[in-house]
Amino acid sequence: MPRYEYRCKACGDTFELTRPMAESSAPATCPDGHTDTVKLLSTVAMTGSAAPSAAPRPSGGGGGCCGGGCCG
Ligand SMILES: [Zn+2]
Repeated sequence: MPRYEYRCKACGDTFELTRPMAESSAPATCPDGHTDTVKLLSTVAMTGSAAPSAAPRPSGGGGGCCGGGCCG
């Protein structure tokens, strides 16, 4: 689950919340109870493997003999 950083405009403190991405823009409450907070642009640590897939394709293709004239 991604972690977001917020800043409380009431006490000026910054805090982090781990919440679903769907609730990233939802109002966050300061640990001190303040609700006047803004979301900071922080690096979101998302683990993911994006390995480039290089699937080998068989060269040629088709096959059969109906292309050279051996069967007709
Ligand atoms: Zn606060």
